[in-house]
Formats: sequence, C-alpha cells, structure tokens
Amino acid sequence: MKAKKSLGQNFLQDEGVIHNIVKIINPQADDRLIEIGPGHGAITEHLQASGAELQLIELDTDLIPILSERFAASSNVTLHHLDALKLQLKNGPYKVVGNLPYNISSPLLISMLYQASQIEQMVFMLQKEVVQRICAPPGEKLFGRLSVMLQHRFECLGHLSIPPEAFNPQPKVDSQIIQLITKQNPTQVPLPELEALVKQSFAMRRKTIRNNLKGMISVEQIEQVGIDPSQRPETISVAQFEQLTLQYIESKK
Ligand code: SAM
Repeated sequence: MKAKKSLGQNFLQDEGVIHNIVKIINPQADDRLIEIGPGHGAITEHLQASGAELQLIELDTDLIPILSERFAASSNVTLHHLDALKLQLKNGPYKVVGNLPYNISSPLLISMLYQASQIEQMVFMLQKEVVQRICAPPGEKLFGRLSVMLQHRFECLGHLSIPPEAFNPQPKVDSQIIQLITKQNPTQVPLPELEALVKQSFAMRRKTIRNNLKGMISVEQIEQVGIDPSQRPETISVAQFEQLTLQYIESKK
C-alpha cells in the first residue's frame, strides 16, 4: 500500500526503535491503552501481546480492513475508524500512545491537554523539534506556547532521538520519543484563559510582556505576580504564567 503524505504516514520499520517505544510505554495487562494511528500495526502487535485493553484510532479507510483482519483474534483490541482530533475520552484514565502523524501533532496535543483528567500518561513519537519545544525550560529559545501549555499539566520527558531511516517512507526531519505524565496536583487554572493569555504573550517574541499583553492585563497586575514588565515572554516561568492568568481572570470579574 502506498503511504499517504496527507495522513502523515511514515511507517516504523526498525525493530529496535519499535522495541524502545514499547519499552517506554511499558504496557501492563491491567492498562487501558489508546493507540493513535496504528498504521499496519507495528507498535500495536506488542501492545496487544501485553493483554492490556487496547483501543485503536485510525483514520485511513484503506487500513481498517487490514487492521481488522490482523487483530480479529485479539479480544482485547477494539478498532475505531475515527479522526483522532475528534476523540472524546471517557471512562479513563488511559495511556495514550502512538507514532503520530506529524501534521496533526500540535492540535492533537492541545486536544489531549483539555482531556488530561482522562489521561494517566502519553507516549508519542514526534518531530524532534516539537519535542524540544515542549520540553524547553524558560529562558531557552524554543520555550513557547506549547511548552507552557503542556508543562502546566504534564511532566515532559524527552527520550531517544530517532533518525529518518527508522521509517518508510523516510520523513525529512529527525524524530524523538516523548513521555508526558499527567501531574497529580496541577495548579488550578482554567485552560481557555491560560491558552488565551499565553497566545497573546507570545504574539511577538521580541516584544516585552507589557507590550504583548497591552489591553489584556495592566502593568500593576504583571508586577503583582513578580514579573518585571520589561521581560520577554520566553523568560517567564510556567508558574508565573499560571499566576498571571489567575490575575487576568480576577480583573475580568
Ligand atoms: N503506528 C504506525 C507505525 O508506527 O508504523 C503508523 C504511524 S504513521 C506516522 C501515522 C498513522 O496515523 C497512519 O496510520 C495514519 O493513517 C494515521 N492518521 C493520520 N491522521 C490521523 C487522524 N487524524 N486520526 C487518526 N489516525 C490518523
């Protein structure tokens, strides 16, 4: 079957890499797993062998009969012909895993963030640059919207880097495995407001936080949470963004 670029199809062909990603997922018989984009089942077969309850979410119509036949005898596997961006999790918590189609990785991660209460952890193969952006600490060039949003709710661990040769067809970029573990006691901040404030804060990276947030929050409120208004957005910590959002919500009341 010819790989579909529009569906971000880069199938894993390196057994060593498959073994590594499965090792990080560490599937157990009492786990509830969701695999996004199982493709031909390269990772799936190892997950299925653990005996865990496994739900597969695949969008490609042509792959559905192939997967259905391959896992027909596995009573622990359920196949859903579905767009992962429309996934509504319930009855969790789940481990959500997959070698993601890179074209939907950011919106998918944000969708999962909004459903974090249904998620125990996630293990994904992503474009290396995206993993580095997610895991970047404040002060680093790559620290931005995705870092703040995901670090707010998850412990973000970057694992092995994977070269293009591990896939067929080969992607143009390096990949990396990331593990996102849901925080047990996250700071209570409403996500839509955090998202709106973080988006506005990074609207122009070279501008100060005061300028980016003009009209949204006052200089006094910025100072109240211990931020110097002349700081650039990438120097502000996740905890400070959380506090700033709470100030913003307070000021709207
Ligand atoms: N897991 C397989 C592997 O590692 O060989 C395939 C990985 S491939 C990078 C991405 C998979 O996600 C493909 O099977 C593709 O059809 C599927 N896919 C693409 N967009 C999707 C979406 N919106 N929802 C669910 N699956 C999607």
